[in-house]
Amino acid sequence: MSRLIFAFVFFPFLCVGQSLPKSADTVFLGADTIVLFEDKTWEYMHALNFNGVMCDEMRNSIEGTNLVVDWQNDVTFNYDNDMRALTDSIWICSIDSLHSGFAIPCPAPITSEFKMRGKKFHYGIDLDLKTGDTVLCAFDGIVRYSKYNGAGFGYLTVVRHYNGLETYYAHLSKLFTKPNQRINAGEAIGLGGNTGRSYGDHLHFEIRYFHNPIDPEHIIDFEKGELRDENLIIHKKLFDYRKIDGSKRKFAQAKNKTPEQIAEEIKQSKERKYHTVKRGDSLYAMALKYDTSVNKICSLNGISDTKILNIGEKLRIR
Ligand SMILES: [Zn+2]
Repeated sequence: MSRLIFAFVFFPFLCVGQSLPKSADTVFLGADTIVLFEDKTWEYMHALNFNGVMCDEMRNSIEGTNLVVDWQNDVTFNYDNDMRALTDSIWICSIDSLHSGFAIPCPAPITSEFKMRGKKFHYGIDLDLKTGDTVLCAFDGIVRYSKYNGAGFGYLTVVRHYNGLETYYAHLSKLFTKPNQRINAGEAIGLGGNTGRSYGDHLHFEIRYFHNPIDPEHIIDFEKGELRDENLIIHKKLFDYRKIDGSKRKFAQAKNKTPEQIAEEIKQSKERKYHTVKRGDSLYAMALKYDTSVNKICSLNGISDTKILNIGEKLRIR
């Protein structure tokens, strides 16, 4: 197959809506590809048919959960994964030895927090920059979305990071990256602006996990310009936005956790055990089998000992 045909067959998204320069050569680097064009420009294409799983650590962190991983360059977010249905906590690291970089997107005061704003929830924070200020990528990752968004974000870039978190940079005036491009913490994403549904120059910054927003201030201390903790426990309460009122108290709690408390939370989440109810099961038989008591099982699951068990129902044992 000629290389030109190869480029058109395997890179259809390069061919839509723009006149494509002729490809001169294609270089394969593992799963990635670099296409060189006759006009001396080039495109770095991260793994074709990329499934969105960034690395083994990300795969391991969600093993045993029902979370579905996707990779879409045209979709800002969806709520296919309901994080409020998480049964166990997920432990991820905001940075690790392989991807240790971190940068504040722009050194500016927060003008609006992650909270109810009027009748709508504000799923990010606003940082008070000026149009033309450089916006930096917070962590190492791969650009998933980078274009104008008509739903209100304006010029928007979304980057997926190696732990599965994604960061959103909205209302930009200029985009510097393209989808599927690798980017490192501290590299420029674009220039700040006032595009989309925005009333004044600012950066709207979001952090999402499997498309579900998390308060960025839970992860980043914007005043100090540093991460609150390298450990990040993802649990369903983070996604219960109805319970998020004043954010200050919540940060105080997160800050006051000692490394021992975090280790204990991780240990407990790993020690949890579940039993799927089969025909003939009873609470008494389950208590015997797992060397526990009916009372314990009832309190773990918030049920009474007279509850009728349904086949296929999952009950926590430990
Ligand atoms: Zn905002």
